Amino acid sequence: METAMETRFGEILSRAQETGRAVGAFTCYDLLGFEAVVRAAESYRAPVIILVSPSSFGAQGGGRLVRAFRAAAKASSVEVLVQLDHAGDERLIERAADCGVEAVMADGSKLPFAENLAFARSVVRSMRPRGVGVEAELGRVEGHEDEAGETLSGATTEPGDAEEFVKQSGVDCLAVAVGNVHGHYSGTPELDWGRLEEVRARISASLSLHGASGLPEADLERAVSLGVAKFNVNTELRMAYFR
Ligand SMILES: [Zn+2]
Repeated sequence: METAMETRFGEILSRAQETGRAVGAFTCYDLLGFEAVVRAAESYRAPVIILVSPSSFGAQGGGRLVRAFRAAAKASSVEVLVQLDHAGDERLIERAADCGVEAVMADGSKLPFAENLAFARSVVRSMRPRGVGVEAELGRVEGHEDEAGETLSGATTEPGDAEEFVKQSGVDCLAVAVGNVHGHYSGTPELDWGRLEEVRARISASLSLHGASGLPEADLERAVSLGVAKFNVNTELRMAYFR
C-alpha cells in the first residue's frame, strides 16, 4: 500500500530518527499526569506523545479526557501528540479519531499474522485520510499494558515478517518484540540487538519499543542508536504517581 501523505505522527517520528533521537510516549490518566509529562518535555524542548489507554478512553468521560488533553496540548510550548494506545477495536479507534487523537495503535498482535495485517490495513485505510497516524505491533510484547506485574518476554518479531507487514499495511510505526515486556522485567532484560538491527534495516516505517520502563538507560541509548524512534513508558510513571 502506498502511503500518500505523511501524518504528523509519522513526521515527528521520522524527524526524531533523522536527528538520532527518539520520542517518549507516556500513558496519562488525568490532567495531573499530563501536566507532569508535558512540563518535563518542555524542560527538554522535546516533542512528546501522550498515550491514552483503551480502558481509560472506553470508560465514562473518556472522550472528554481526550478532548481535554488535545486542548491542553495546544497550550504547551512543545509538540504534544495524543495517541490511543493498544486498541483492538475499530469502533473505539473511530471514536477516538472523532475526539481528536492524532495517532492510534491498532493492536492486532494477539492475532495470526494475516489477521493482524488485515486489521492494520483497514485502520490505515480509514485513519490516513483523516491525518491520523497508525502504529501496529508484530510479535508479542507480553504483559498487561495497564498493570505493572512481572512478565516474561513473548514471541519475538521476525524481520522478514516485519518487512512484509509494513509494506502491505502502510503503518507509520511498528512496535517490535525483541525481548522487551510491559510492566516489570523478571530478571535482567536482554534485548536481541541483532534482531532489532535486522528489522530496522528491512522496514521503512519508524520503530517503537514498548515496555521501556525498567530497561537500563544504556539499553535505551543503544536502541536509539539502532534507530528506535519511539519509547512507551507507563510503569515508572504509575509508580511515581502512586507514591
Ligand atoms: Zn505497549
